[in-house]
Amino acid sequence: MLRMFFPIIFSFFCISNLSANGGDDQLRKKADEIAKEILIIDTHIDLPLLLLQKDFDVTVESNNGEFDLPRANKGGLNAASMSIYTSSRTENNGSFKRADTLIYLVQQLESKYPDKFTIAVSAEEVEQNFKKGIFSLPMGLENGSPLEGSLDKLHYFFNKGVRYITLCHVKDNHVCDSSGDTTNTWNGLSPFGESVVREMNKLGIMVDVAHVSDSSFYDVLRLSKVPVIVSHSGCRSLTPGFMRCMSDEMLKALAKNGGVVNIFFGSTLLNNNVRNEYEEWQKRRQEYLKIKDHGETQFAVENPINLGSIQDVIKHIDHAVKVAGIDHVGIGSDFDGVDLLAAEIKDVSMYPNIIYELLKLGYSEKDIRKIMGENFLRVWKTIDKNKG
Ligand SMILES: [Zn+2]
Repeated sequence: MLRMFFPIIFSFFCISNLSANGGDDQLRKKADEIAKEILIIDTHIDLPLLLLQKDFDVTVESNNGEFDLPRANKGGLNAASMSIYTSSRTENNGSFKRADTLIYLVQQLESKYPDKFTIAVSAEEVEQNFKKGIFSLPMGLENGSPLEGSLDKLHYFFNKGVRYITLCHVKDNHVCDSSGDTTNTWNGLSPFGESVVREMNKLGIMVDVAHVSDSSFYDVLRLSKVPVIVSHSGCRSLTPGFMRCMSDEMLKALAKNGGVVNIFFGSTLLNNNVRNEYEEWQKRRQEYLKIKDHGETQFAVENPINLGSIQDVIKHIDHAVKVAGIDHVGIGSDFDGVDLLAAEIKDVSMYPNIIYELLKLGYSEKDIRKIMGENFLRVWKTIDKNKG
């Protein structure tokens, strides 16, 4: 989750790079076939927050956000980690209650549509659901704030079905320091954060080091007895100075740990130029809207946004594979949680476009299976097997 503003209504007016759509038909057909055949798991989708803001039927195709079941089926998606997201602003101010509400909304999906959705609590369950044609919804807590300094609350969320926890969001919290904060409150993990990581290892909850500072990342790697995950991130060498993404050194350390980094799709996160242009665009928009009779639509027509390209996603996947190795990379789109998405990967119907681009780069079907889900499931199984 890193959405600053919802530009959905502007989509019609935006510039994008659609050149990839004219490519090799046979390869495209193969990509579609692979997407249908293999287990695809996306490790980070912010649907629960969207459902809190807007009640809609996710089993019907719509343009509400980036996820619904018909579009997921079209894209070959079989499982999506539901982000139980709490903002850094809610630390000590309602984060536990908010997390509980979002979990309830995921539970509602399962109870309303038992033949369509299941909250999966193990990798094996995801695999079984895939065979049965049921869509898996594992849950991940994005931000450790709702733990509120209590290991009992960690057990509570485990019992509710939460299977990964992103230790913090964009600000330092009571668990650890964040990549989005320069305060260095703890210089890594807090003492409570250390006990959280130990207890997560015991329970079999995956430790997610997306969003954490470099110091927190290395603290977790030193402490964790099992591999860790990065539910949604990218490669810092392609976004110089952007601390939210991982350095090559971190990618190598993650591979040594046996973990997996799942690459996000948001263009402002993957490309510094797109992010800078977007920030400028937002400033212009604010100035424009201050003037009487000026409206959003008119501004969008006069100021098209650069949405980026699927090549940004592919470059990050390919770089992560080159540095960490083919066994340590996956996908974690951050759908429903990012500001800008390229036209070729703008919702859950478009995973075949990623497969197509990887095929074009010479990736084998075996490699693609690993990236699209097997690597993440392997790590989850390892964590589960070594709990206790
Ligand atoms: Zn996030």
